[in-house]
Amino acid sequence: MAIFLWILGVGAVIALLYQGRGYAAWVSGAGLALLGWWIAGVGSAWLFGLALLALGGAALVFGRADLRENLVTAQVMPRVARILPRLGETERIALEAGTVWFDGDLFSGQPDWPKLLAFRPRRLSSAEQAFLDGPVDELCAMLDDWEVQQAGDLPPQVWEFLKRHRFFGMIIPEVYGGLGFSAIAHSAVVTRIASRSIAAAVTVMVPNSLGPAELLLHYGSDEQKRHFLPRLARGEEIPCFALTGPEAGSDAAATQSEGIVCRGKFEGKEVLGMRLRWRKRYITLGPISTLIGLAFRLRDPDHLLGDREDLGITCALIPSQLPGIEIGARHDPLGVPFQNGPNEGHDVFVPLETIIGGREMAGQGWGMLMESLAAGRSISLPALSVGGSELAARVVSAYGMVREQFDTPIGRFEGIEEPLARIGGLTYTMDAARRLTAGAVDAGEKPAVLSAVVKAYCTEGMRAVVNEAMDIRAGAGICRGPRNILARAHAATPIGITVEGANILTRSMIIYGQGAIRCHPYALEEIEAVAAEDRSRFDRAFFGHVNFVFSSAARALVLGLSDGRIARSPLPGPAAPWFGRLTRISAAFALVSDACMATLGGKLKRREKITGRLADVLAWSYLASAALKRFCDEGQPQRELPFLDWGCAHALFQCQEALSGVLDNLPSRPTAWLLRPLVFPLGRRLRPPSDRQGAAVARALLDDPEARAALTADVFLPPAEEPGLGRLESALSKAVAALRVEAKIRDALRRGELDHSPGDALADRALEAGIIDAEERKRIHDADEAREEAIRVDSFSPEEFARLRR
Ligand SMILES: Cc1cc2nc3c(=O)[nH]c(=O)nc-3n(C[C@H](O)[C@H](O)[C@H](O)COP(=O)(O)OP(=O)(O)OC[C@H]3O[C@@H](n4cnc5c(N)ncnc54)[C@H](O)[C@@H]3O)c2cc1C
Repeated sequence: MAIFLWILGVGAVIALLYQGRGYAAWVSGAGLALLGWWIAGVGSAWLFGLALLALGGAALVFGRADLRENLVTAQVMPRVARILPRLGETERIALEAGTVWFDGDLFSGQPDWPKLLAFRPRRLSSAEQAFLDGPVDELCAMLDDWEVQQAGDLPPQVWEFLKRHRFFGMIIPEVYGGLGFSAIAHSAVVTRIASRSIAAAVTVMVPNSLGPAELLLHYGSDEQKRHFLPRLARGEEIPCFALTGPEAGSDAAATQSEGIVCRGKFEGKEVLGMRLRWRKRYITLGPISTLIGLAFRLRDPDHLLGDREDLGITCALIPSQLPGIEIGARHDPLGVPFQNGPNEGHDVFVPLETIIGGREMAGQGWGMLMESLAAGRSISLPALSVGGSELAARVVSAYGMVREQFDTPIGRFEGIEEPLARIGGLTYTMDAARRLTAGAVDAGEKPAVLSAVVKAYCTEGMRAVVNEAMDIRAGAGICRGPRNILARAHAATPIGITVEGANILTRSMIIYGQGAIRCHPYALEEIEAVAAEDRSRFDRAFFGHVNFVFSSAARALVLGLSDGRIARSPLPGPAAPWFGRLTRISAAFALVSDACMATLGGKLKRREKITGRLADVLAWSYLASAALKRFCDEGQPQRELPFLDWGCAHALFQCQEALSGVLDNLPSRPTAWLLRPLVFPLGRRLRPPSDRQGAAVARALLDDPEARAALTADVFLPPAEEPGLGRLESALSKAVAALRVEAKIRDALRRGELDHSPGDALADRALEAGIIDAEERKRIHDADEAREEAIRVDSFSPEEFARLRR
């Protein structure tokens, strides 16, 4: 009886905590456990009475808000205030920019799967689809990426085509002469172009991401919009956005580019304006831009605008031909020939009306940038990375069948299956995250944390995928020339890693640093309550938080013991177990994250190895959630199951290892010891994708044309006679057509009806022996010829070589 009551008590605590009923759990559970203890005769009656009294007292104090506030919160609040992070001005603005979306669910430890599955991302409109199948495909057909590289620029007819078809105005509404595309259409366009030419994709991407058009749309005055947007849409103005300078890279707010408010002459008239001086570098489209979106710190030493001297970061639109501007020099970004270079301004005087939004927006630049980045980061670089990765998947899946060594297509070797699996699984997951996040932007979200996640993890994903593809292509991946279409994507991978917030910083500082505060159900509320010295608000947030910690602990334990099986899956079917496991990881993440915040407080933001690992958990949970959403939205197609399984197994394993890494390195060792049995009650049981799962992905890529087509649906397919992907695709279809004939010959060899002969002679003998007919012999011939062509690599005469741009 006693043991029964004791177990019942502990069980009640866990069950009620699992449901998120903290105090009720403690009081009822502890009461039952005490009763069990007494009945067992362990304690005397007066000890039991004392314990019950203490329990009742605690229940009274913690259950009544007024008592709790005066007796407990009054003591706790100053102590907590000491450890809470203090937010600087730029951090506060960054935190206020954008919205919390599914990241909030992942932080809560209880992702709302039905809500995620019910979310319907926008589909392409018929006009958007027609643009993709029309001008985008036409553009891709015009692009010879090798020639672009050799010329160091897009050819004039391509520039003209881009302007004529309003590629630079995808985000500009139709009323201003732009295309007015949704985020998902914008993303689809960049993805397809990136599968053809990274240089062209970057060129199209930049005017449509953070820059003059985006800033004007949200903050510009009506007059500025009417003047600039139609010109930008038509490509009459080429914009660039100049934030980075020699002194201000990742720490962009430290810019020394400066504007001083003063009077001066502009176009013959005396006006109130700004005298600007700046030094910028790495500016994409800068060398050919006619309109510079300039970020600088604005000062008003003579108080011409008001009391404040330092007005803060400000964004203005500066015509690039004004006196004092030096523009035109080019950087060479790893040989990828999009326009990029430094620019400087010396004593450039412009009216205050050049500030985006007019003089009222002086000093509002940082908020504008953070807000725009929150949405923009969701689109451009994830699209570019998926385009590059889908291309790599398409190339190696063909090459794996076409290239033979040891009389076997190399894709059949287990050694090649491994990188093929990583290529297929990662590409599927990245593309799912690209689509989901663009869908969120279309739904009006500005998902600040998730946009940083997709930016960083898709660009890292592309680096991994393209590296693997280079190894599969081996010599054919190394020798540059028109046939080697992956070398240029390979060269470009560090660019995506670096721009729009370099990945190391994004992973270790931005994702978790911002996520922990803004997505956490209570953290921001606590910080704000402390700043406002509002005890009641703090009391609600703090005790909500305590309750949340206990319920996360119970959930992590119970879900960990059952490998997530007791978490409800929103759908039956093969994806169901992954939902449960992700719920389990999410609960563990919520618990570990809180433990890190509680034990490290404000120091946590400097412990970047800890925050980087926590960012990994959040990011991989999101990527896996996106893959599940994609799979379910598409009706759980069997052909995509290998990609989903590999992607989820990989993502969950990354989460587990990252959580374990946090526990191994948490400075508070007692906390880590307490946490480990809750987070990993049965040890670290998640495994990376198995060999079987990897083989299934490789088979889907090599042998299932529908699965391959679904994975690489965004790739532009060139004509069959084009060196590179065109020839590879053609060789693949001919190789597949010859497979059955080759199998017949192999069977004849096994039966001893044919002798081994080298090369063509074997097929000739098979024909003579009547094992195959003339049409089948031709199929083998065509396949061999196409294979021969597809595996060729480029070479150059010494004169040609000397002329190559490298
Ligand atoms: C090809 C290209 C195109 C670009 N286009 C533009 C453009 O159009 N407009 C524009 O304004 N800028 C542009 N940039 C600039 C780009 O945004 C910066 O390069 C980027 O912000 C990083 O700055 P940085 O190169 O000075 O590196 P640094 O800031 O010097 O950083 C060096 C390393 O330190 C890491 N790091 C820095 N701080 C921290 C921290 N607190 N914690 C952890 N790690 C940290 C970074 O992650 C990075 O790995 C472009 C850059 C390139 C290369």
